[in-house]
Amino acid sequence: MARTAQSAVRTAIQNPSDTITPMRTVLSEVREFDGRAVPFLVKEVPRARSIRIRVTHEGVVVTKPYRVPRYEVEAFVEHSHKWIIAQIDEMGTLAQKTLSDRIHYLGEVREIRRASVPPVRFSGDVFWAPGEDAAERLEAVLEWMRRRAKPVLRDSVYRWSSRMCVTVRRMGVRDQTSRWGSCSSAASVSFNWRLVMAPQAVLEYIVVHELAHILEHNHSDRFWRVVETHCPDYEACEKWLDEHGPELLQYGRGMIEVPLLA
Ligand SMILES: [Zn+2]
Repeated sequence: MARTAQSAVRTAIQNPSDTITPMRTVLSEVREFDGRAVPFLVKEVPRARSIRIRVTHEGVVVTKPYRVPRYEVEAFVEHSHKWIIAQIDEMGTLAQKTLSDRIHYLGEVREIRRASVPPVRFSGDVFWAPGEDAAERLEAVLEWMRRRAKPVLRDSVYRWSSRMCVTVRRMGVRDQTSRWGSCSSAASVSFNWRLVMAPQAVLEYIVVHELAHILEHNHSDRFWRVVETHCPDYEACEKWLDEHGPELLQYGRGMIEVPLLA
């Protein structure tokens, strides 16, 4: 079930050789459409006469003639935005089919590619992971993130505890299912390892938030003043977590294919 949008420059006669002419993929990335990360491909077709967009199980696929410049493609994609989203909605399975090889890391959606040998590597914005299938590779990347979370959060706690002049008695990294961090009255803080999926600023905000609870064990105005002093953008971070947090929290809980990931 591929659906097609055609640009205004389309000609009445379809080029019958479109399907057999070799195509060249000139762009392959992941784009966000209405909060969903979807593969986005631009292909050049030698004898194409118009820009076309199809939404298939491959993702959003744009085909264009050689000479059409990139900005025209972008303008057409922009123009077709609503249409694209409607097609993605209809093809509800698209996300499930394609997203198990993509994951959030430091606030961006990253591709997971197959590596012939371990260990997992993150290089050039892409994860390279061993594994026979996408689920195995995703699991390997999640394990890598769980391990990575500890030093990253420890560094952040060291930094902020000295800046905020608070003493942290204990720090742990946990597999919480519904929260990002916590702070006990005994100045022991814990953090969700999934914070490494979020933008660095969000991770720092959660650390500031929990350390601020060592000073103020509540969400009073005084507490928020402490947070704001050290993290003036905390509201944007809260907003990011409201939007994306529920999806991130599903990782590593036996759900391999996460339908919403943005
Ligand atoms: Zn709190």
